[in-house]
Amino acid sequence: MRATLMYKAGDVRVENVPDSVIKHPTDALVRITASCICGSDLHPYHSMDADAGPARMGHELIGIIEAVGADVSTLRKGDLVVSPFAISDNTCEFCRENLQTSCSHHEAAFWDGIPDEGAQAEAIRVPLADGTLVKLPVAPDSALIPSLLTLSDVLGTGYHAAVKGGVKAGDRVTVIGDGAVGLMAVLSAKRLGAEQIILMGRHPARTDLGLEFGATDVVSERGDEGIAKVRELTGGHGSHVVLEAVGHMPAYQQAIGIIRPGGTISRVGVPQYQDAPVGFPSLFGPNINLAGGPAPVRAYIEELMPDILNGVIEPGKVFDTITALENAPAGYQDMDDRTSLKVLLTP
Ligand SMILES: [Zn+2]
Repeated sequence: MRATLMYKAGDVRVENVPDSVIKHPTDALVRITASCICGSDLHPYHSMDADAGPARMGHELIGIIEAVGADVSTLRKGDLVVSPFAISDNTCEFCRENLQTSCSHHEAAFWDGIPDEGAQAEAIRVPLADGTLVKLPVAPDSALIPSLLTLSDVLGTGYHAAVKGGVKAGDRVTVIGDGAVGLMAVLSAKRLGAEQIILMGRHPARTDLGLEFGATDVVSERGDEGIAKVRELTGGHGSHVVLEAVGHMPAYQQAIGIIRPGGTISRVGVPQYQDAPVGFPSLFGPNINLAGGPAPVRAYIEELMPDILNGVIEPGKVFDTITALENAPAGYQDMDDRTSLKVLLTP
């Protein structure tokens, strides 16, 4: 079967790999009908060493169940399913607390941590299928597929940012980053009733989509200039909640600059740093909460799916490019060049 492999930074190829097969009785074999490239895939695209490759790529997918292991009880051949970016049993103590990214089952993992499977491929073996996969009540060629695919990661991740940030009616919220997750954070803040949503981003096509998703203001300046602009828009005091969807240090510093005393910085951009200011001038003095982490998107699928099915939200608008799996290498390049916001891959 065909699959996407990253050999090293900047070197992505689609090649033949051994067919995925069922290995454990709790597995399902899924024929992938839609997958995509994530902003987080660009981190290794910039920095991966050749010794770490070739690595199978992709952690967002919709597909049709081809076969199930003997112990799979809730799914059958022919079901259309969506997979979160993390595998979980959905029954352990952490899963019951809606923290499926910390599932304690020994087979629990992130797709990116599994060496011989990936979603940017024709098929995939899904461990713990009953816990991980969620059935979709539409046909594989439904016009809703792009929006439903965002349940795999970006919508749930943006929503997690807003939930962990404690966004509530009347809040002033600032979102840092105009990538797909930042735009989903805008949509999520709106869903939770934020009164003001300032989107910090520099790409007009993206910030325009952010305005469509509910942003009330756009700030294209960065650093001190951007901080001053947000403070001006928030009556001088800053935002109650900052949703940080980038992961680089300047974004964190910007968050500290625009958060209101007593507010919450919620991070869902994967931090590309280990050390960051947490002392008196940054977090402690103004009583700032620091929240966020990898989103347990599995926890949000049932909550968010009806809004997609009913047309209340259309998160699939983040996919501005739909192309064949074979074109994945160009898709990485286009996302890195910012000529594509998010690329959907079909077999
Ligand atoms: Zn679990």
